[in-house]
Amino acid sequence: MNLQTISEALLKIKESKSQAERKFEAEIKAVTENNQEIKELDNLLKQIGAKTALTAITGNQAALDALKNKALLLTAKKADLLKAAGAPAYPDYSCKKCNDSGYIEGEICECVKTEAKRIALQRVFGSDLSNGATFDNFSLKYYPEDKDESGYSPKKVMTTTLKISKEFAAKFPEGKNLLFIGGCGLGKTHLSLAIAAELASNGYDVIYGSAQNLLQKAVRDSMDWSSDGSFTDHLLSADLLVMDDLGTEFGTTASNSVLYNIIDTRLQRGLSTIINTNVEFEDLEKKYDPRIASRLIGNYTARYFLGNDIRQIKAEY
Ligand SMILES: [Zn+2]
Repeated sequence: MNLQTISEALLKIKESKSQAERKFEAEIKAVTENNQEIKELDNLLKQIGAKTALTAITGNQAALDALKNKALLLTAKKADLLKAAGAPAYPDYSCKKCNDSGYIEGEICECVKTEAKRIALQRVFGSDLSNGATFDNFSLKYYPEDKDESGYSPKKVMTTTLKISKEFAAKFPEGKNLLFIGGCGLGKTHLSLAIAAELASNGYDVIYGSAQNLLQKAVRDSMDWSSDGSFTDHLLSADLLVMDDLGTEFGTTASNSVLYNIIDTRLQRGLSTIINTNVEFEDLEKKYDPRIASRLIGNYTARYFLGNDIRQIKAEY
């Protein structure tokens, strides 16, 4: 988990701590204002406080002890009265383990790590998070067991693809690349989201986007003289880049050259890329610059997504 995300998470937890304490104080104040008995106790406690300060100067230990005992007694009585009047005993912290301090005995509390994960995911996917796509909710039950016209059992193939995806995330960064090929609704987006979400929440710098969107922005970036090129730099340097739906974008010479630059530079830098496409392997060369196709064929582990459109099957359930 990177340090900046952790410190952002700590800030957030501390914010919720002061929020809980402000709310608590306001509730105590509201109860006190309506309760004559508590008000009087408060006054007594103030007087005892002042007396204690004066007595401390004289050094009369017996008198000091008596005052302290009295204060303890009155404080306990006040607590009882507050409780009876329905005031909360403690601030309602969101984390009961660390009381929103962020630490337990000097160690970062679990709540900070959870918050840091949320921040990291939000950075990659926006407020939408990862649509909740995980490895665990990737269901193999939608893939037919029987061989299809390609001669393979979709369930068998997808079982292996799920395993490869999990390994990709577990062994990251190994500099490996994945090419998910197949029609709509076969789970390409789900699996690549699951990988991206897992790595983002482990603190890796992940970019996720549709090819259309990413390439368009990068082309604009390269043509805009006033741009500092930071978007393209990020595409070339992120730990993981996931490009969804390659092949559906409106390809131009400029976008093809940007695409080649992204694929080639990331390969040279040993940075992992995942590409989802509905373009068949043999059609990649026709649709794209042959150099792009040869990079993909030579350096990406290609996985075919088989089966029937899951979105359609799910709709029929
Ligand atoms: Zn905590």
